[in-house]
Amino acid sequence: MIPANAPNAHCPEQAQEAPWQSELRHACRDLDALLAHLGLSRDDFPQGLDPRPDFPLRVPWPFVARMRPGDPMDPLLRQVLPLAEERRAVDGFVTDPVGDGAAQALPGLLHKYHGRILLTVTGACGVHCRYCFRRHFPYAEANPGTGHLAATRDYLLQHPEVQEVILSGGDPLSLPDSRLETLIRALEDIPHLSRLRLHTRQPVVLPSRVTDGLVQMLESTRLRPVVVVHINHAQEIDATLGMALARLRKAGVALYNQAVLLAGVNDTLAAQQALAEKLFDSGVQPLYVHLLDRVAGAAHFEVAEDEAVALFERLRGRLPGYLMPRLVREEPGAHAKLPRA
Ligand SMILES: *Cc1c(COP(=O)(O)O)cnc(C)c1O
Ligand code: SF4
Repeated sequence: MIPANAPNAHCPEQAQEAPWQSELRHACRDLDALLAHLGLSRDDFPQGLDPRPDFPLRVPWPFVARMRPGDPMDPLLRQVLPLAEERRAVDGFVTDPVGDGAAQALPGLLHKYHGRILLTVTGACGVHCRYCFRRHFPYAEANPGTGHLAATRDYLLQHPEVQEVILSGGDPLSLPDSRLETLIRALEDIPHLSRLRLHTRQPVVLPSRVTDGLVQMLESTRLRPVVVVHINHAQEIDATLGMALARLRKAGVALYNQAVLLAGVNDTLAAQQALAEKLFDSGVQPLYVHLLDRVAGAAHFEVAEDEAVALFERLRGRLPGYLMPRLVREEPGAHAKLPRA
């Protein structure tokens, strides 16, 4: 088998899979298999599970490996576990809470904030987080991929004030290195761009995604690389993820974290403190903690805003200033993420 980072691995016709692609393909999609692996059964969830949710169960095994066996309240498990109550309609919880549909300048190109555009480069994601605000997003129609690259470049050339391109999705790192390389090369020769940012959870659920090829790509681009990882709980950071993050940092990537504040997962002082400290130990700067986007199916994760603000007041009493993330909410039509604390 050809290693992922062999020189010929970026040929798109290449049939060989990188190890991360194989791990992705073999991700757990079966509720009972997941529970059995953790020594749990459906009886451990008296409030009811949904074995066939519209947004399917999907979780790579390397992430499952960081869950505590026998604990139905495990904070990693709760993020991926489809509960029966997701089907309950709750007032105010809608399919497009962030107003993404309206902000698309081109299919898959969001231009909401000054100087930055966001490309949803793929609909695919290595993991399906139950709280995901894109769980109802029409991915298939919103994918600039390489197909719309010419239109994206034209748009950028007409907007010289844009300095930064943000690759998002889905998860941009569910694209193979070859596709990312095409994208990065095309963006690189737009003279007024200076930064390239990736928002990704893929290295967290699949640390093997941080291939030599990816690291070299980020190291060699003339754009200043920024990676915002999505880690919600300190328990997600194990030695393997720590090593993957260290390789990115060594390559000169500026590393930040964004989390989502989730009831039953990380809505305690201890959880937020441990997360910020462990991120810092891993060379990652805490950046955002998002209030939940009010997406249909995720109501059980909501933490009331006043409770969140109170939690952050207490957190400020525990952490050095440079480790304090910003508590933010995404508002349709706003020109930036709205700071809350
Ligand atoms: C979050 C987001 C950004 C980036 O905002 P920052 O303030 O730079 O973190 C840009 N565009 C869109 C559409 C976003 O949702
Ligand atoms: S990784 Fe991000 S985009 Fe993917 S399912 Fe989770 S929250 Fe949604």
